[in-house]
Amino acid sequence: AKETGRNLYQFYSPDMNERAFERLFLDSDLHRALARNELELYFQPQIDLAQGHVVGAEALLRWNHATKGQISPVVFIPLAEESDLILDIGGWVIEEACRHARQWHDQGYTDLRVAVNLSARQFRSDLPDIVARVLHETGLPAHLLELELTESLLMERPELARTILNKLRYLGNHLSIDDFGTGYSSLSYLKHFPIDRLKIDRSFVKDLNVDPDDAIIVEAIIALAHGLRLNVVAEGVETSDQFEFMRQRGCDEIQGYVVARPMPADDFLRYLQKSKRQ
Ligand code: C2E
Ligand code: CA
Ligand code: CA
Ligand code: CA
Repeated sequence: AKETGRNLYQFYSPDMNERAFERLFLDSDLHRALARNELELYFQPQIDLAQGHVVGAEALLRWNHATKGQISPVVFIPLAEESDLILDIGGWVIEEACRHARQWHDQGYTDLRVAVNLSARQFRSDLPDIVARVLHETGLPAHLLELELTESLLMERPELARTILNKLRYLGNHLSIDDFGTGYSSLSYLKHFPIDRLKIDRSFVKDLNVDPDDAIIVEAIIALAHGLRLNVVAEGVETSDQFEFMRQRGCDEIQGYVVARPMPADDFLRYLQKSKRQ
């Protein structure tokens, strides 16, 4: 918060002043959001392209603000990340995601994974203990929890990252690299970290059918993943052309609006029941 304060005064303008106030209010509201039950997880299905059915869901955080309506994580996660507030929120996300996945498990969806996004600040030496406790308390089998990490998060402190990943892997969690291809220019970390899968960033998928370079990049990521015996997921798949491209190139799974948007837990359960009947 200190950092931003300074910047705001440096580039002072009436408009920014208004935004600074907006931020201040949001920030203090965010500190109460958990206690007020204003945070909610949405779930977006992930489809296995070979089997054609739902194999998992990514948990995506929403803030149902009392007066401002629903606020995007793009807005409030960076605010939460400025302080240890992200530890409380991130811990809640892990618990809530596992709790829901355990319910799906109890409803007979015994192989359904849940994927949770992690912030850099959560990536501390106590993370494996937190995850182990939540798995124990919710009774969710460890292999059904997937943790999404970014390249930059891993490369900030690679030694610590390796220790933490090894512990999470020992617990049995799935580990994936989110936004793959956008973060770090070296691929050598793929050799050193116990990663299970790569998520192809939406920026490569978006213009797939108009920009031949993107098609080349996506094909290369799929080949790289399979060469390293990693699973690969394409995110942000919006059109049937993109869907078909991924299927033909042997991408393992997709996630995107072409299948379904992120939805509240109740809707997700109904979605599961509906897709099972088909
Ligand atoms: P992300 O992890 O890359 O999540 C994917 C984002 O793409 C989500 O946005 C999702 O709703 C959106 N998306 C999925 N399919 C499509 C598609 O076909 N087209 C388009 N245009 N978008 C699609 P969302 O839910 O707004 O989340 C934005 C970001 O906020 C996430 O990006 C993630 O970085 C962060 N985030 C969300 N929930 C959490 C959380 O619980 N913890 C942390 N640390 N970050 C979170
Ligand atoms: Ca993600
Ligand atoms: Ca992503
Ligand atoms: Ca992203």
